[in-house]
Amino acid sequence: MLCLTLLLRAAHAQNQPPMPFAAQAQTSQAEQANFPPQLLEELSAIKATALSDDYAYRQVAHLTENVGPRPSGSLQAKAAVDYVAAELRQLGLDVRLEEVKVPHWVRGAETAELIEYRGQAAGTTQKVVLTALGGSTSTPADGIVAEVVVVNDFNELKALGRDRAAGKIILFNELFDKQKAAAGMAFMAYGEAVRYRGAGPKAAADLGAVAALVRSVGDADFRLPHTGFSMPAGIPAGAVTAEDADLIAHLSSQGKVRMHLTLTPQKLPDATSYNVIADLKGSDHPEQIVVVSGHLDSWDLGTGAIDDGAGVVIAMEAAEILQKLHLRPKRTLRVIAWMDEENGGSGSQAYTRDYSAEFPRCVAAIESDSGAAHPLGFDVRMTPHAAELLRPVLAILQSFGANAVMPSSYPPGADIAAMSEAGVPALGVLQDGRTYFNYHHSAADTLDKIVPAELRENAAAMAVMGYALASMKDPLPR
Ligand SMILES: [Zn+2]
Repeated sequence: MLCLTLLLRAAHAQNQPPMPFAAQAQTSQAEQANFPPQLLEELSAIKATALSDDYAYRQVAHLTENVGPRPSGSLQAKAAVDYVAAELRQLGLDVRLEEVKVPHWVRGAETAELIEYRGQAAGTTQKVVLTALGGSTSTPADGIVAEVVVVNDFNELKALGRDRAAGKIILFNELFDKQKAAAGMAFMAYGEAVRYRGAGPKAAADLGAVAALVRSVGDADFRLPHTGFSMPAGIPAGAVTAEDADLIAHLSSQGKVRMHLTLTPQKLPDATSYNVIADLKGSDHPEQIVVVSGHLDSWDLGTGAIDDGAGVVIAMEAAEILQKLHLRPKRTLRVIAWMDEENGGSGSQAYTRDYSAEFPRCVAAIESDSGAAHPLGFDVRMTPHAAELLRPVLAILQSFGANAVMPSSYPPGADIAAMSEAGVPALGVLQDGRTYFNYHHSAADTLDKIVPAELRENAAAMAVMGYALASMKDPLPR
């Protein structure tokens, strides 16, 4: 998941208690008309099938282990597009590839050592574990040497001024709030810290810094660096591990610290890639669309299991289950595997360019991009009345706990943000995020982090909600 949408959504959704619609037993006439008994039976059958279906897990195993990391512009991203398109065709969907020009940035060498600091043993250096941020420029092949200046926030950077920042390596040491994450407010903790990854390098460059480092956003205890998008700054930019940020901060409080830093990523010419778009045509209103989606690209350090192979495969499974049960939605269910969510969002921009004329007929859009852990319900951006109408669906999801509805003023997914801004009711699958940022954008985002039973719950939440939105009598009001 990219930085800004999350930041906005985090600050919001996590502060509000879930709306316990499902706990209210009263059924209104509108609900009965929208969800007749046969539809409720179909939704229950979809749930039961999803909770015992391993389709999504087999798909994410293939995407992560056989295909591998899928950064935009890579050969693996291309292979993933072809694979997902073929699988969806095999399910009998009407599949097309929508062309997207994507950035193609490739990682190079990434090493750093502290070469001068107080108390240094003669003839030694201290290794620093780090990784380049997406879009970082390169140092010369043999690196640069400069003093490191630690700031805790943008105010401290500003206070340094050009005089003390120019020629230096600036380290932003903003902490990721582990207690918030442990208490279930991980997305808020992420939102607070990710501002420095997003905007810090540019702010440092504006004051003449020769490179910028951030403390990794996502604080586990295993000295892992976490990469991610950073606004183009024109200087080398990296993320050091939380442990190394502490080390540098401690040593620099004692005296001058100098670093030898080598980062040699390359920005290659933009590449051609694709969003995969697959329709299961509606029986009554094929022109009305319900989007179920996740993003197919990933960062390159891990294999993109929880971010966001999981989101793609549960959207695929929504279609797989309907085909298996021979259920045809009234409206068209559209599975989208988005390209380039992580490195600029060119996939969702292309979709807006090509499909915005359809947005008035898009009944709802769902994206899952917050991991694969147990689903708690949905972040929703829609009118309170529209959310109220979903009560019968939430009652079905309640048996496995995915019935919370968290109203959000911000789009609940980066790729569906433009649709949401255009008034399309938007939903994000809301997973338990307590451990998500231990692995997010790191080398540890791998298949073993997905618990198959929890992935099945996510698939059930996506399939039940997707079919409900596509088959309820009246489209959700805007
Ligand atoms: Zn993501």
